[in-house]
Amino acid sequence: MERDTIDTDVLLVGAGPASLACAYRLARLLEAAGDKREIMVIEKGAETGQHILSGAVMDPRGFDELFDGKWIEEGCPVEAPVKSEAVYYLTARGKVRFPFLPPTLRNHGAWVVTLSHVVRWMKTRVEVLGVNVFEGFPGKELLWEGERVAGVRTADRGIDKSGAPRAGFTAGADIRAKVTVLGEGSRGSLTKALVSRLGTDGPNPQIYGTGVKEVWEVPDGRIEPGEVYHTAGWPLRSSHYGGGWIYGMPGNRVSIGFVPALDYEDPRFDP
Ligand SMILES: Cc1cc2nc3c(=O)[nH]c(=O)nc-3n(C[C@H](O)[C@H](O)[C@H](O)COP(=O)(O)OP(=O)(O)OC[C@H]3O[C@@H](n4cnc5c(N)ncnc54)[C@H](O)[C@@H]3O)c2cc1C
Repeated sequence: MERDTIDTDVLLVGAGPASLACAYRLARLLEAAGDKREIMVIEKGAETGQHILSGAVMDPRGFDELFDGKWIEEGCPVEAPVKSEAVYYLTARGKVRFPFLPPTLRNHGAWVVTLSHVVRWMKTRVEVLGVNVFEGFPGKELLWEGERVAGVRTADRGIDKSGAPRAGFTAGADIRAKVTVLGEGSRGSLTKALVSRLGTDGPNPQIYGTGVKEVWEVPDGRIEPGEVYHTAGWPLRSSHYGGGWIYGMPGNRVSIGFVPALDYEDPRFDP
């Protein structure tokens, strides 16, 4: 099968906030050093941000450092600064407000953002620095030279449900890179292959939760942009770890979600 081979210096897999932050920082360091090395990002979504679900409260410290404190003035889309916050313990019929905010749920000074919008803006920032972002290119398998990762093979296009080629079939390309960075987010398929081959999961492997998240439009006056609520308790039993959130956004929109841990004992449980 004919395959294109593309050579690059640094290949980042996934155009999420982690990869794009890495690409941006590296591109700036290379620019400052007058070094013309090539950085490439591949993203499996047809466009950057398409596979990013998070309606998030974002701690600004990382972006302040990365973008020299100028990310908002340079146009990074934000929904609202966090204006008020509370944590509630829910019961089936009522709620009890926590008298204090647990440290991990303190969001004063943070921003409510739609992460898919943020990463689209990050993409524009890296492209200005000469980074190539290729959308619609899933990394399918790692290329190995002995025990060294030598790049990534992208997925074939134009295959039917049974895996057979159909009209318009194009074989995936081999992107060979001096450095490959996996920024696939949780449950990355290449990352899993790497971890299992090199045994790099260490003593603290990834753990998973499951959940639901939606953006609702609610009637006027229900919630202000920047109002942030986290919940514990109902509908979970006390033995079940997890909780929910409600983040107010402009235009009477709310990000609402619920994430229980996966170590529940009741097999009938369904978030
Ligand atoms: C519903 C929800 C709510 C959240 N709320 C918050 C919050 O309030 N505050 C907070 O700080 N964090 C929050 N998070 C966590 C936050 O979204 C993640 O920590 C963050 O997105 C991780 O960034 P990442 O770049 O590592 O991975 P991701 O954001 O997962 O990005 C990975 C990218 O890689 C692409 N990709 C994956 N595999 C491949 C492949 N093989 N080839 C090509 N592309 C690939 C994906 O399409 C995706 O674009 C939330 C997450 C979720 C799901």
